[in-house]
Amino acid sequence: MSIDSLRRWEEKGKIQAIRTPSGQRRFDVDSYVPGDKPDNKKKAKSTDSESTLRQIAKGVVQYAQQMQKSRLFPYPSALQLGVEKLQAICVMQNKTQPQGIPDFLSSKWGEKPIKDWAIEINCPEEWKNVQFIEDQKPSGFCIELDGSYINEAERIQNEVMEEVFKKSLQNPNLYVEFRRLLVTRPVITKGDLDVKSVLELKPLQKVLEDCYEEAPVSYKKQGKFSCCGHCGGLMHRTADNELKCENKHCFKQKKQDVPFECDQDDEVLWLKKGLRYFIHRPGCAELRIEKRMKDLGLEVTLYPDCDKYDLHVVFPDKTVWAVDVKFWESAYNLAFKVNSPIPKLPHQPYHESFFVFASEIKEYGDEYIQEFLNHCPVKFKKSQVMFEDTFLQLVDKKLKSCQQ
Ligand SMILES: [Zn+2]
Repeated sequence: MSIDSLRRWEEKGKIQAIRTPSGQRRFDVDSYVPGDKPDNKKKAKSTDSESTLRQIAKGVVQYAQQMQKSRLFPYPSALQLGVEKLQAICVMQNKTQPQGIPDFLSSKWGEKPIKDWAIEINCPEEWKNVQFIEDQKPSGFCIELDGSYINEAERIQNEVMEEVFKKSLQNPNLYVEFRRLLVTRPVITKGDLDVKSVLELKPLQKVLEDCYEEAPVSYKKQGKFSCCGHCGGLMHRTADNELKCENKHCFKQKKQDVPFECDQDDEVLWLKKGLRYFIHRPGCAELRIEKRMKDLGLEVTLYPDCDKYDLHVVFPDKTVWAVDVKFWESAYNLAFKVNSPIPKLPHQPYHESFFVFASEIKEYGDEYIQEFLNHCPVKFKKSQVMFEDTFLQLVDKKLKSCQQ
């Protein structure tokens, strides 16, 4: 594509260009609008900061991935372009701008909530309280906004589904056993995984290998790996050599970490990032609710019909409840991922369905629920969306009414 045609497009308003502080023009290919000049100019403008933030999220995630491999790579172009767009926003508002990428990645920008950037940013209110980088890693918000890890989790899920459909006659529980393994064993030795995949999950052997990767040696403290006492995930070392779970909410639980035992000639594996974030993290809440339902004597099925939803609960009076459990930092971002109501099982359709948020983020409160309800394209009733503890109270109440 020639520069001339880009300039012509810019003049016609078909594409947006920004000028970098050095005066260079950058064209934002994502902003290209085919056909005539967009008549809703205001709308195009309001999404501009939002798209800048999305680009930064993508860049920060790619940068973190590169850093794991080698420190010699150049900065990812998404990060470069994102920071340049941010610089342009600052210039337009006559405010101090980040002096390049290292400055952006520092405590002055990336490690600060967006509202403290001292510039006007047109983005969802909820985003203003969050930051891109926490503990020198992309924050949960950043991971959700970028979207590449959810794609990884979805790709692996789809591969599993394919195998499961081929083999479901031999073992109808195959899918549930697979998910249970991912949630209960986020860290596993190569030896254990081999045994599991040969004895219990043989049809999924190949996919299972794709779920785990080598645990980073830099996470070892005094030669040993440790796991989080709350979620079981691998602990990393912070800058002050403290052990910390990747899930920042585990910290509040104040559980003792657990040393991970492994034979010297064996290898320690952990789940790939997408699965850690989008399968293991909510999975802990899913299994917790499953256990509670069982303890109450209720009939409960995890991930019915190959994951139509998370929990299928049957009460003594045969009332059926369907539950989807979510654990996202951003209610706004989650809202847009939910694009249909919970589907019904043809053989046992539910009477009520619920969206339940893991109790680890309970402190986000009613605002979080409201944000989700406001932006979700599917119209849920307020009574369908709640935190885990409210849901458990509802179950208790329903069960009591059955017993009367
Ligand atoms: Zn944890």
